[in-house]
Amino acid sequence: MPNRIDVLREKINRANYEYYVLDNPSISDYEYDSMFAELKSIEAEHPELITPDSPTQRVGGISEKFAEYKHKYRLYSLDNTYNDQELIKWYERVTKECGSEQELVCELKIDGLAMALSYENGIFVRGVTRGDGIVGEDITNNLKTVKAIPLKLFEPISVDVRGEVYMPKDSFEKLNEENLKNGEKLFANPRNAASGSIRQLDSTITAKRDLSFFTYTVILGEGSNIKTHWESLQYIKKLGFKVNPNIRLVKDIYGAIEYCKEWENKRFELGYATDGVVIKVNSLSCQQELGFTSRAPKWATAFKFPPEEITTTLKDIEWSVGKTGAVTPVAILEPVLLAGSTVSRASLHNYDEIKRLDVRIGDRVLIKKAAEIIPKVIKVVDDENHAKLPVYQMKMVCPDCSSPLEIREGEVNLYCSNPNCRSVVLARLEYWVSKEAMDIDFVGPSLIEQLYDKKMVLTPADFYKLTRQDLMQLDLVKEKSAENIFTSIEKSKSRPLARFITALSIRHVGKETADILVNEFGTLQNIRNASKEDLARVDGVGEKIASTIWEFFQKDDNIKLVDELLFLGIELREGGEKISNIFEGKTFVLTGTLSTMTRDEAGDKIKLYGGKVSSSVSKKTSFVVAGENPGSKLDKAQNLGVIILNEQEFLKMIGG
Ligand code: NAD
Repeated sequence: MPNRIDVLREKINRANYEYYVLDNPSISDYEYDSMFAELKSIEAEHPELITPDSPTQRVGGISEKFAEYKHKYRLYSLDNTYNDQELIKWYERVTKECGSEQELVCELKIDGLAMALSYENGIFVRGVTRGDGIVGEDITNNLKTVKAIPLKLFEPISVDVRGEVYMPKDSFEKLNEENLKNGEKLFANPRNAASGSIRQLDSTITAKRDLSFFTYTVILGEGSNIKTHWESLQYIKKLGFKVNPNIRLVKDIYGAIEYCKEWENKRFELGYATDGVVIKVNSLSCQQELGFTSRAPKWATAFKFPPEEITTTLKDIEWSVGKTGAVTPVAILEPVLLAGSTVSRASLHNYDEIKRLDVRIGDRVLIKKAAEIIPKVIKVVDDENHAKLPVYQMKMVCPDCSSPLEIREGEVNLYCSNPNCRSVVLARLEYWVSKEAMDIDFVGPSLIEQLYDKKMVLTPADFYKLTRQDLMQLDLVKEKSAENIFTSIEKSKSRPLARFITALSIRHVGKETADILVNEFGTLQNIRNASKEDLARVDGVGEKIASTIWEFFQKDDNIKLVDELLFLGIELREGGEKISNIFEGKTFVLTGTLSTMTRDEAGDKIKLYGGKVSSSVSKKTSFVVAGENPGSKLDKAQNLGVIILNEQEFLKMIGG
């Protein structure tokens, strides 16, 4: 056992140093927590092997950038778990110790950095990082730049509070975009960005970073008549601090588990990162009875969400060709479990990204997954193994047809130079039938491949020339399925114009741009005849997209294709799709789950009545339609005073 203990301690100490001092962790939190749990369980079995400097006996770590400050009240860490059974066990210990069922307070665990703030006579006088819990770094001047930290309280009292400084997701993305432009270091996640920003020696730099703060603890004096943690949070609000709006008081651990499950999915809608839920005993007297271990309170525990980041090995880089001819890399990974599913492929964006990350075949890579987004490689573990691997070299030929790749001005992607490349044509045909475009059921990738290889379908127009007999020549297609395929192709002949424009795979023109074009120009003829300048003038189009649209309609092949499609009987429901103009000039934002339709269907209805749909709330938003479990868009709408409609109210507006 001593060997394993030493290995774990060494690995954890190294991870601590990278995480707390360098702000540059090389392993995921999940891996760290797994090693930590293993070390704790070995030490529990062999208490004689516990040493005072074991990582299980300590909290965090400190760097030497700032003056040290000894905390008046010690700051602890939290015990954590990734499963419900352990939460139940924790609760059993709590109820046993306190002698009765206990109410609990659930709070989102903000993925930032813990801070201790001191106020004297209502004035902010000191802000200190948690450090190792006993000594932290005095970063008062930097914390003064964080607007959510009041410099003066509503009451002139002397008090100490705790909370978490964090960087909102938007600001994190913006900061990384800027750093990328300036060739500076990129932060792996919002927590590292917050840590790097708040611990700047020059506080004018901190001031430029958009940081915020949630307060979650107040140290109450001896004579306080506050009896519960819940009341103390209300008191914190009254003093002028920002408290997370999603706190909840629950009856017992089952209420807390429900809260955890709810936020496991909903967390992605928040504007800030949360890595779990902190569950705290509500009664302050019971908290006192329970007390602390050397590292954490016994009256609180953290439930951590399944990991969104993990390290694995890069086995290969596969290049695929898309409908625009763009050749993009995909990382082929040693399969790992991430956020509840096994991941074996991840995005690498483009060749520039491969060079920026310096990713090499055989590397250990950190991958990340956010809701509904395919995982991506965010960094390479810079170890001895990496140094020994050859730098990745890309072959400048199309992986499918071996034509040379093209570099286009102002574009990061590389393109296959052959317009008839099989992969490009197949991808375009697949896109033509997709839900987003002409929505043709029963025609999937393998059927399209057969049709293409038998030279029956080479362009989208060829779909509309197929007869039932043609279809029955294909493998596995019998009378019934030939009929289904034929009918659904026929049905697609009368789709709205915007879908037709989307289906054409014009570079940079997706569903949203197609909608804008149709709103502006009304008919296909008008779009075809529009000059580059006319197109560029449209709000939401701009010069770059205007050029690609204009160029598309100048090319003989494209003109021929569009004319042929019209000749074959495609009847476009041109701009006149609208039922009425009652929503003219109104912009809607949809959030949450609707009960009688999907958000896309609600969006279609809004457009039918002349309105626009936007994905984000701003002062210009006319209405927010909120379904079940609305996200942060609802909070933003409330803050901006935007009218909020529920589903029934929305349906009433259109007489439904
Ligand atoms: P922690 O982050 O698991 O939990 C304690 C912290 O939670 C508190 O100090 C506070 O900052 C925070 N917190 C957020 N919201 C809170 C709320 N509402 N109420 C109370 N506290 C709240 O523990 P830690 O000691 O800060 O860090 C240990 C964790 O950090 C590990 O479990 C691991 O996940 C991660 N870590 C990762 C690496 C790595 O290399 N990837 C290295 C070291 C630590």
